[in-house]
Amino acid sequence: MIKYERLNTEKAKAAEKSLEKAKALNKSYNTPEVNAALAEMFRGKCYICENKEGISSFQIEHLKPHKGDAELKYDWRNLFWSCAHCNNIKNAKYDPILDCTKVDVDKKIAFRKEGYFGKDEKLQFIPLGEGEEIKNTIALLYEAYYGSTPQKKVEAANIRKALRRSLSDFKNLVREYYEAEEYEKEDIRCLIHKELGQGSSFVAFKRWLIWDNKEKYGELFP
Ligand SMILES: [Zn+2]
Repeated sequence: MIKYERLNTEKAKAAEKSLEKAKALNKSYNTPEVNAALAEMFRGKCYICENKEGISSFQIEHLKPHKGDAELKYDWRNLFWSCAHCNNIKNAKYDPILDCTKVDVDKKIAFRKEGYFGKDEKLQFIPLGEGEEIKNTIALLYEAYYGSTPQKKVEAANIRKALRRSLSDFKNLVREYYEAEEYEKEDIRCLIHKELGQGSSFVAFKRWLIWDNKEKYGELFP
């Protein structure tokens, strides 16, 4: 989970307008405008698990569960973009969590993948501060990446598989950078910066790979 800016783009303005209208008519907040603006803002990624490949269903997620409250239900600032797996897990169960449109979540929680194979592999979410929001966010992350019901465990295993692949590609890129000739380095550095940017999948883990090895790889962080 990382921070995204809730910018006043054309798509965001259209989304707010459509929400106003939906609220007045007591219609669904699930409008094409809202979907387009959320996909743009969250770069086509689930804000909770940071997966973007092979997701069959995206859903509109209310950061603060609306429980029928019209203000929260149609509030653009309360709407987030998540995969069905994570939306279903979060539901109204984890509240409050960190608001990733206001807070640098990856500065409040360290994201690490330890080990390589099978049972040795372990994801870790380490709190870097105190408070209920951090605690709830970490509990939500563990459930999103590991599941609790038999079905959710299968879905979570698929997310971890995508995470493993994405991190492995990223590590290869970093290796390539250090093995490259001077004249090739700039191109590879651009690719690495893209991988560390908002639009790439599982960015929190990639950033922490660099931050945990600051002395060795610090120059790669934009
Ligand atoms: Zn997700």
